[in-house]
Amino acid sequence: MDHYDVFIAGSGPTGMVLALYLAHQGVKVGIVDKTAAPGTTSRAMAVQARILELYRQIGLADEIVAAGKPNQAINLWAKGKHKAHLSLQLAGARYTPYPFILVYPQDRHEEVLVRKLEEMGVTVQRETELVGFEEHECEVTVRLRKADGTEKQCTATYLAGCDGAHSAVRHLLGGSFTGGTYDRLFYVADVEARGKAAEGEVHLSLETADFVILLPYTDTGRCRLIGTVREERADAAGQLSFEDVSHRALESLGLRVEQVHWFSTYRVHHRVTDHYRYGRAFLLGDAAHVHSPAGGQGMNTGIGDAINLAWKLAAAVRHEAPQSLLDSYEAERLAFAHKLVDTTDRLFTFVTAEGTFADFMRTRIAPIFASAAYSIDTMRELIFRIISQITINYHDSWLSAGAAGALKGGDRLPWAVQDGRDNHAPLPKIDWQVQVYGTPNDALGDWCTRHGMPLRVFDWGQGHEAAGFTRNALYLVRPDNHIALCDTGASAETLAKYFRDRAYRRFC
Ligand SMILES: Cc1cc2nc3c(=O)[nH]c(=O)nc-3n(C[C@H](O)[C@H](O)[C@H](O)COP(=O)(O)OP(=O)(O)OC[C@H]3O[C@@H](n4cnc5c(N)ncnc54)[C@H](O)[C@@H]3O)c2cc1C
Repeated sequence: MDHYDVFIAGSGPTGMVLALYLAHQGVKVGIVDKTAAPGTTSRAMAVQARILELYRQIGLADEIVAAGKPNQAINLWAKGKHKAHLSLQLAGARYTPYPFILVYPQDRHEEVLVRKLEEMGVTVQRETELVGFEEHECEVTVRLRKADGTEKQCTATYLAGCDGAHSAVRHLLGGSFTGGTYDRLFYVADVEARGKAAEGEVHLSLETADFVILLPYTDTGRCRLIGTVREERADAAGQLSFEDVSHRALESLGLRVEQVHWFSTYRVHHRVTDHYRYGRAFLLGDAAHVHSPAGGQGMNTGIGDAINLAWKLAAAVRHEAPQSLLDSYEAERLAFAHKLVDTTDRLFTFVTAEGTFADFMRTRIAPIFASAAYSIDTMRELIFRIISQITINYHDSWLSAGAAGALKGGDRLPWAVQDGRDNHAPLPKIDWQVQVYGTPNDALGDWCTRHGMPLRVFDWGQGHEAAGFTRNALYLVRPDNHIALCDTGASAETLAKYFRDRAYRRFC
């Protein structure tokens, strides 16, 4: 019987990114999918800056950015009038190397992940469905069924359920999936369109009880549309075509749709499971949370789950850390999923609400408010930071400690470039590191050498101050580029105590 360190059910973006990060850390992974081939439809289109920052760690960001279309601005329209031009470049350039929303269809994204996995020696076992599993003291036995009905088993130290919204792993665990379903029927369409709006930036057009989001993803008029189906046609879901969608918001953009390549309707759900960890089994991605596509967060959140869990599983497999490290995955990511579902729920309900008052607020008041807010630097930056997921923090985590200047344990490591040195430049391998902006003391240097901890020292500069760092302080950075510990005194003893308190054997 084959044995894996980590066995992954589901090879959507979440499962493949988990497999990739584990393989990069030398973990033996098995990954199966019940389908014969990866999806061929575009589905999630937005890749957010935070995911690109993390992809940079494994040398994937440049390729993905080059293949996609970096969208530099969002335009807001209401009742046919252009109300606001929100520049992402202006809002994000000082926070991230990726101050844009990358529009890159999910099917192409998945093709790259499949290839990268194969380069790491990992092949997805296709037409192989997880149909059961049993947890024992030291491992999990997984039952698999091939397309021809034959069954086989394998064992794994840990099991990851990345098997989508209808997750078999979640059902077998008895996990809940509480939430609801929105009334309106939505559509997604990949089209060839003509008109100024199709030439570059993202557009959101609001009409009476109707809206459309337009995401161009080539320079030649290929676009993704997301909108609502006309109320009187919504009951015919399954037999609908592009003719049945509300065209008013589209016409307001001056858009002429010449060809429809793909059209699909769907009901949008908002649901979160109550636990992400059950002993040796974990839930990630759509298996754990689903929400409206407002803000392009769904797939990104699944990938974020995978990257959060991968380094913790790698440490557990190598017996470097206690089991409580694995509990921090649920504590950190479940809290974020609840916040995200609440926010997208409010936004989505607002954008799709019906009635005279809702219409007035959406098409008259909101655009004025958005435009005014966006003209204020701090508001503009905040909006970009939320959408791009760079504000995600784990302040309440068991792994977070200390504060120095504007930063606290749990913050994402702010991005700073000074004299050509980039503090997000990847290490040779995914690992912990200590960063000091200024001069480290000898005791800290000795501790890092003795424990094989990479120590990166940056000559203090204004760029560091602007990013919130404190001169000569110590920043302990986790393998997923979040700050674990800040210490203004840069004390080797504080660093040692951090790991001792958490029984993190590798650094004790
Ligand atoms: C029509 C459509 C439009 C969308 N538009 C957007 C959008 O605009 N923005 C956005 O952010 N998101 C969008 N999404 C959602 C986005 O596609 C998902 O959030 C994303 O795919 C989640 O990735 P995942 O890997 O967690 O799950 P999935 O992509 O669902 O992958 C799960 C995988 O598990 C496999 N599987 C299931 N059960 C088993 C089993 N028992 N054994 C083995 N394999 C199994 C499935 O075959 C599948 O390949 C859209 C989805 C759809 C369907």
